Amino acid sequence: MAVIGFSRIRPMMYQDQITRNPVNRKHFVIPKGTVHFIPERCKACTYCWHFCPKDMLEESSAINAMGYHPPAVKEGMEDSCIACGMCETVCPEFAIYIEEANDRERAH
Ligand code: SF4
Ligand code: SF4
Repeated sequence: MAVIGFSRIRPMMYQDQITRNPVNRKHFVIPKGTVHFIPERCKACTYCWHFCPKDMLEESSAINAMGYHPPAVKEGMEDSCIACGMCETVCPEFAIYIEEANDRERAH
């Protein structure tokens, strides 16, 4: 019986080489969102930028009152948020919230 090594089990976000697009993708509407931070609550646990499926967040160079570097949106990715809510869900400090835009955009 073949045994799969741990090195072959990777989180979904790293499996983009085997990700497929559904044939009816153009019928789906992709939500758009704006991410807001409350930097003073952040303890730089790194969850938000590691779990964002769009990989659009990163540790900023700013320092809050507790001495942590809060997250920021990567340069050029300001319009990339799909309002999935993952960052908001995983943040243990409630330091992020998402505002979903009213104007949704069709996937291309
Ligand atoms: S809502 Fe989703 S796509 Fe938008 S910043 Fe948070 S994790 Fe990333
Ligand atoms: S998940 Fe919350 S506490 Fe952790 S780095 Fe992101 S904003 Fe900071």
